[in-house]
Amino acid sequence: MQDNRMDKRETSARLFEAATKVIPGGVNSPVRAFRGVGGTPPFIKRASGPWVYDEDDNRYLDFVGSWGPMIVGHAHPEVVEAAQRAIRDGFSFGAPTRAETVLAEEIVARVPHIEMVRLVNSGTEATMSAVRLARAATGRDRIVKFDGCYHGHADSFLVAAGSGALDIGEPSSPGVPRAVVKDSLIASFNDLGVVEDFLEGDDVAAVIVEPVGGNAGCIPPIDGFLEGLREMCDRHGTLLILDEVMTGFRVARGGAVERFGIRPDLVTFGKVIGGGFPIGAYAGPEHLMRQVAPSGSVYQAGTLSGNPVAVAAGTATLALLDAAAYETLESLGAYLERSLLGVIHGSSFPVVLQRVGSMFSLFLRSEPVLRVSDAADIDHEQFASFFHGMLDDGFYLAPSAYESSFLSLSHTPGLIDEFVAGTAEHFHRVFATLV
Ligand SMILES: *Cc1c(COP(=O)(O)O)cnc(C)c1O
Repeated sequence: MQDNRMDKRETSARLFEAATKVIPGGVNSPVRAFRGVGGTPPFIKRASGPWVYDEDDNRYLDFVGSWGPMIVGHAHPEVVEAAQRAIRDGFSFGAPTRAETVLAEEIVARVPHIEMVRLVNSGTEATMSAVRLARAATGRDRIVKFDGCYHGHADSFLVAAGSGALDIGEPSSPGVPRAVVKDSLIASFNDLGVVEDFLEGDDVAAVIVEPVGGNAGCIPPIDGFLEGLREMCDRHGTLLILDEVMTGFRVARGGAVERFGIRPDLVTFGKVIGGGFPIGAYAGPEHLMRQVAPSGSVYQAGTLSGNPVAVAAGTATLALLDAAAYETLESLGAYLERSLLGVIHGSSFPVVLQRVGSMFSLFLRSEPVLRVSDAADIDHEQFASFFHGMLDDGFYLAPSAYESSFLSLSHTPGLIDEFVAGTAEHFHRVFATLV
């Protein structure tokens, strides 16, 4: 299969080799290098609707969607038109534009409890800035994050659990000072117990959480988890930051805030609000957001922030995401779930499907994954074999056993049928010794 794969993606293999000479690992973001599944990644030339095409003109049904932003499908004509219109009028002014207010108003209108929005350039910037604001507003330094939740690559978040139960974390990357992560405490997702211990001293500025775990596979919050965090934060004067960079405008019209009915203090966005262009945002009630410069003293800035092309593409994307669109996404997700569960249960495959709306993961194990440690027993070779079989057949899934996959408005029940048939075939092959 290895040889066949190289033949099929000969150009990609050559391009990857060239890339590794001038770009670390050949990629500009680590997961793209396929280290989790082996082999070389297809180099993408273009994309349209649910399809991506590589440099060898192989076509793939895309379930990555640029890791979430492409919720209306690739190169949607209305988004293309909006971005082109914006480009024709100049790409960046470093001055305020009418369009930024329109996007901010749209976000405020959709997300309960949000009154003001600051646009930045990435999800990383959004979470980093939200934590700065939370620290300033509370006069506290410590934050609590959850194992397996990803909030971008700012120093404070690059922390792994230490050895002791209530220990402070260790930097998870060289180059991150101990002094920075000493204020980052790590709790287990879907587990309130340790959070209460962390908050007890009334010295934690913020708890930051992905309302649906999306960066360790799709891990829904168990009943009472988000509600419990809200209640504890209120009791201890700690702010609750919902990191909706992935879930925002993905799991509902008003994101997870609406879907789960949780009141956040601050919310971070990215991905969908740029429609595939670089963007991020942090948002909250006026009394907090007013503390951001220049109306307040919490410094945060950006040369390209509110970039007109990104704002136009994001606004056009949100315009396509009306109530009917979320019904479509939900029913596509439900259809995929029903069909896949039929396959999984029909043959007793040791596979768990976890889904929230149009986000889903297939975990190759028989018990649900409630926290990242549950997934530690996943057989990587088995996943890699499944993944590459699917890829060779034209189904582009996230190249890691620990990532979510996504549906878009351009996926159809017919395409989902093809995907499910492919999945069944490759489950039979991978689990041949078991069944
Ligand atoms: C993708 C992601 C980020 C980081 O966003 P970038 O735009 O890649 O910097 C932060 N938080 C969550 C939940 C994400 O999914």
